[in-house]
Amino acid sequence: MARKHINSGAAGVLFAVAVLTFGCADENTRTNSDTQKVEGRGGDTAKWREKLPRAQWANYERVADDLEWFEVYRVFSDVYAIYEPGQFEEVISFLIVGETRALLFDTGLGIAKLRPVITRLTNLDVMVLNSHGHYDHIGGNYEFSEIGGVDVDYAHAQAKGAGPEKVARYVTGDWLWKKTPDGFDPEAYKIHPYQVTTLFEDGDIIDLGERRLEILVTPGHSPDSICLLDRAGRRLFTGDTFYLAPLYAHLKGSNVADYMASIDRLAALEPEVDHLLTAHNVPVAEPAYLSRVQGAFETIDSKSAAYVETDGAFEYQFDGFSIIVPATNPRR
Ligand SMILES: [Zn+2]
Repeated sequence: MARKHINSGAAGVLFAVAVLTFGCADENTRTNSDTQKVEGRGGDTAKWREKLPRAQWANYERVADDLEWFEVYRVFSDVYAIYEPGQFEEVISFLIVGETRALLFDTGLGIAKLRPVITRLTNLDVMVLNSHGHYDHIGGNYEFSEIGGVDVDYAHAQAKGAGPEKVARYVTGDWLWKKTPDGFDPEAYKIHPYQVTTLFEDGDIIDLGERRLEILVTPGHSPDSICLLDRAGRRLFTGDTFYLAPLYAHLKGSNVADYMASIDRLAALEPEVDHLLTAHNVPVAEPAYLSRVQGAFETIDSKSAAYVETDGAFEYQFDGFSIIVPATNPRR
């Protein structure tokens, strides 16, 4: 799912409206009117590109800097952020390296081959785990043999892949601006099917050797959304449940009540973590945002909050992020 960085204040609201109109990238949910507006967005994507490079990335050491499609940064000594700024989603996958094995949390768009990049970063066996099954997080799954997942119908459905008729639009026109790898054919862009080899449940621990990651099942953005908690490292990998941009609670498969419950749970962990690692635009955010999002959902629920309406969804603006809920949100 696409989301763009937003600013507080009126300009931020206006930009966020444009994002809502042009950026809802779920192949399952886009309406015809959405599609037409995306195809005609022109100047708004120019604004998006002007945001690049986003300043936060300069805080981190760039590695493997000869890569043409991916940008790879060492965010912590054992955590690499693999960023794809060449496409509107600006998705970020994370490689977490333990003593005995490594975990790849999401595999990005699948525009460029990811496995050779991972091989350069670690010699250890790598297991893939997805924050959720939206196309921009699972594109490279097919390149890997060990893939973890949750036993949720939506996740199983997404593992069947998606053909060009569903996803090729996301690599056309202004969705894509960076040079793609030689041999990449936008018209044939698809999400390859993949096989989940290990099912996990809420509370399961993945031990990478001196690095233990706890799976938190956090539905809301999608039915299969999870977060990863590194208690010793005091880090929480939030996937699309939180990042510094419009949060999507309005997609097909989203559920506002579930999202609120998940955020309540994450907000309770706020004292236990120092960093949120997020899946779009910039890799790190402060944990205080979790309780801010919790409060934001409560504001929305109070029915008194101002919102912007477009394309049948309601967007509520907060400082540093917004929340988009369906106009049919039964909680309103
Ligand atoms: Zn998503």
